[in-house]
Amino acid sequence: MNLILMGSPGVGKGTQSKRLSTMLGIPTISSGDMFREIRRQDTPLAHKVRGYMDRGEYVPDDLTIKMILDRLDEPDACDGFILDGFPRTVPQAKALDEALGKEGRHIDHVVLLQAPQDVVLKRLAGRSTCSKCGRVYNHDSNPPVEPEICDVCGSKLEQRSDEAPDVQRHRLAVFARQTEPVLAHYKASGRLEIVDACPPVDDVTEELAKMLKGVAPA
Ligand code: AMP
Repeated sequence: MNLILMGSPGVGKGTQSKRLSTMLGIPTISSGDMFREIRRQDTPLAHKVRGYMDRGEYVPDDLTIKMILDRLDEPDACDGFILDGFPRTVPQAKALDEALGKEGRHIDHVVLLQAPQDVVLKRLAGRSTCSKCGRVYNHDSNPPVEPEICDVCGSKLEQRSDEAPDVQRHRLAVFARQTEPVLAHYKASGRLEIVDACPPVDDVTEELAKMLKGVAPA
């Protein structure tokens, strides 16, 4: 199954895509995680990517499209994938359709996780990320056992540099400006399915599993 999971920053895409990935046995391909990996390096590209991310801006399409299309050609993505955070612009969506079409592949589901802005801002404010393994926690819905320490690897939790309150608001505005036209693109071709992201995490997973039919929550 080839799936796109869409939604604004803070809506829970990362958490849900990792859960679906386990259930379906297919990889999650997260453009945000890939860029976070790149930005850790000491290269001119890392410096450039860091600049866009810290301002809450999108990385340019040419770079993003190439990174994702290359990743989709790797063997583990040939039997299915979940795209988390891509496409985010209309040129990205078109490039994806075109590249998959050339290989006789297609997207089976485009799912939008949807929640009002006050809910996503609250979730973003309570979010902290492990500085080492990248696991995401939330003060309200998914706190670590020991405050500010990762349950998995014991490293310190931190707030992402692109999650300062003013950057968060900017990221939501960028989403509205650049990504809502992508939603319209999929809606126009009757491919957009919407799931309410407000309920507790497990309920949202259950709803997604129902939508993808035959997939049992773990
Ligand atoms: P995310 O973790 O998905 O919210 O992504 C974090 C940041 O990575 C975004 O704010 C952008 O700077 C960059 N990014 C991730 N995916 C894309 C994309 N599809 N197009 C452009 N920039 C992206």
